[in-house]
Amino acid sequence: MSHRGKTRLASRRPNVKAMADVRAPPPPAQDERDECLHCAIVDMVEERIAKGGADVGDLATLVAESLVDLILLVPESEQAKLLAHTVSALGDLFLQKSGAEDGGSGSTH
Ligand SMILES: [Zn+2]
Repeated sequence: MSHRGKTRLASRRPNVKAMADVRAPPPPAQDERDECLHCAIVDMVEERIAKGGADVGDLATLVAESLVDLILLVPESEQAKLLAHTVSALGDLFLQKSGAEDGGSGSTH
């Protein structure tokens, strides 16, 4: 649900700073901290594109490199499996998000 709803929720945050009671729960702030990794990465990438001068090929390479770094974090015996999972997820998610599959827009987060 927090997927892509971040901006809307953030702008709706009420100004209650004076009410900093110890027992008051902070749901809006938590919403930002708990943002999913995917959304955080997308935000950063979109920021770079918005600034201009960003090459989408370079951006894709960097995101891919971060996936490689992630794969290299697991034991060597599991790296091939994780790589296969990554490639599979890449294809599956593309089909879902491009509308080739009925699935919805990012409801997985
Ligand atoms: Zn997300």
